[in-house]
Amino acid sequence: MITVAVTGALGRMGSLIIENIGDAPDMELVAAFDIMGVGMPAGNADVLVADARKIDTLLASTSPDVLIDFTTPGAAVGNVRAAVGCGAAIVLGTTGLEQYQEEIAGIIAGSVPAVIAPNFSVGVNVFWKLLIEAAAYLGDWDIEVIEAHHRHKKDAPSGTALHAADVISKALGGKELVYGRKGLAPRGEEIGIHAIRGGDIIGDHLVLFAGDGERIEIKHQAHSRQAFTGGAIKAARWVMDAPVGVHGMEEVLGL
Ligand code: NAP
Repeated sequence: MITVAVTGALGRMGSLIIENIGDAPDMELVAAFDIMGVGMPAGNADVLVADARKIDTLLASTSPDVLIDFTTPGAAVGNVRAAVGCGAAIVLGTTGLEQYQEEIAGIIAGSVPAVIAPNFSVGVNVFWKLLIEAAAYLGDWDIEVIEAHHRHKKDAPSGTALHAADVISKALGGKELVYGRKGLAPRGEEIGIHAIRGGDIIGDHLVLFAGDGERIEIKHQAHSRQAFTGGAIKAARWVMDAPVGVHGMEEVLGL
């Protein structure tokens, strides 16, 4: 049995992860943390939500095999430190981590195995591969990344859009990224990135390769958050036997 702790337990992602753990015959939820709702039941599990501000001591007392974190960038750093402190493997899905990336990698290095991914869905991981292939043929076309998410999403652009721009830029030997345009903004050789926020859109990503007289659009749309949580559960199983250090979802999926 894989014992699991979840941070962000009452969030959109955390609560579905807890539901998925309840449905998994090989997993058991042993701890759930959030800032609000302390003392409330965590989903249908026999576990009450514990105070995330006391995670250092409370996590050690349950000693989980793996911690799954879908919270906020500032919170994720402390949660990763707490997991490393009690020897738990890590599945980290929080996005907007750019400014904390080095710090997190430093905390994890040489201590526990971790899977960190801005998107855990199978489809998005294949989408990123398709972008690299398209970029190899269409590097001299104009490239724009457009993403749309629900009105509650805190970070912009999405980690998935940033990763899409990053894989294309690397495939083309390095490109400037331009975030939105306003006023006089003539197009250069950049990759443009645009974020739309509204309603309950779960997550759409479109990459436009535009040439003269034609264009190609490569698009991924998530219909349900299960696309992400299913991948995170897969990653939690995979990380149990993984070597110490940071891994990506492409390794979990064998892409
Ligand atoms: P959400 O509904 O706002 O959930 C985040 C939860 O974490 C909230 O309940 C929040 O409490 C709680 N929290 C804040 N600080 C915490 C702490 N120190 N310890 C424990 N919990 C804490 O957001 P969401 O939609 O679930 O998304 C969470 C993160 O996952 C975001 O970064 C999002 O972009 C990312 N995400 C990643 C993927 C992927 O595949 N990698 C997919 C979807 C979403 P409060 O509301 O009180 O602040």
